[in-house]
Amino acid sequence: MGTWRMGDEASRRADEIRSLQSGLDAGLRIIDTAEMYGHGRSEGVVGEALRGRRDRAFLISKVLPQNASSKGTVEACERSLKHLGTDHLDLYLLHWPGAIPFTETLYAFETLKERGLIRDWGVSNFDTADMDDLAELGAYPLVNQILYSLEYRGTEHDLLPRDEKARITSMAYCPIGQGGDLLHHPTLRAIAPRHETSLGPATTAQIALAWVLHRRNMIAIPKAATPHHQALNIAAQEIRLSRKDLAALDEAFPPPRRKEPLAVI
Ligand code: NDP
Repeated sequence: MGTWRMGDEASRRADEIRSLQSGLDAGLRIIDTAEMYGHGRSEGVVGEALRGRRDRAFLISKVLPQNASSKGTVEACERSLKHLGTDHLDLYLLHWPGAIPFTETLYAFETLKERGLIRDWGVSNFDTADMDDLAELGAYPLVNQILYSLEYRGTEHDLLPRDEKARITSMAYCPIGQGGDLLHHPTLRAIAPRHETSLGPATTAQIALAWVLHRRNMIAIPKAATPHHQALNIAAQEIRLSRKDLAALDEAFPPPRRKEPLAVI
């Protein structure tokens, strides 16, 4: 479950909290947030949603690159824990590669692990060369969280196979195109009525999500600010795309033929 923009509008807060709680109740585990989102406001929403339920969640937050020094990372993590009302994160990510040498961030991640404030660490928005740099340092993140959806398939050329080979899990952000044009694409509109979930005929958002989920070594973190959207996203796991569907999607959203620089949002 993604959380970007949660906490931005007071009128949506109750729905956002219920949405995250309904996801946990239905068996979803991962909640992804960041110190950047609303300057800690999203973490505040997550903290409220987790009250009395912390042990059910696998909680992820992220440090901003400009804070990712050996001292700054520890301080940022302590701030995030305060906003979240918890004593540990399950996973702590560097939000994107920055100017501070990664050895500093790594030192802080190890310190935080020793202190029990984080269970593990990972990265986000790291391209193939960035991952190679980490490997040279002998640093192996648990995940690389990247932009991945039908509209952004560039990573299929080298980053996704590279991470899979290194046993680093890929985590797709914006898997349903931020609820934008993707959901009106004619190919998705044509495929959706061919599928049925426990909630009724499939929607284009569910097809887009099912497509991301059909990939090996891939986790998706869609953001749903209402229990209804959350339920639809959970039901998307029931969809099995056929070869015909996959071929139509490849035609509409062609896979990369050569290296493309990692796209970011
Ligand atoms: P998503 O692709 O998850 O799309 C979210 C949008 O889709 C919202 O407008 C939401 O509406 C809508 N939506 C959700 N479910 C449905 C549905 N079933 N049917 C129709 N519309 C739906 O975009 P995000 O940008 O939120 O990305 C997901 C998460 O990834 C973020 O929340 C964040 O946690 C993470 N992220 C990480 C980044 C990084 O740099 N590491 C960058 C960007 C995102 P509503 O809100 O009304 O439910």
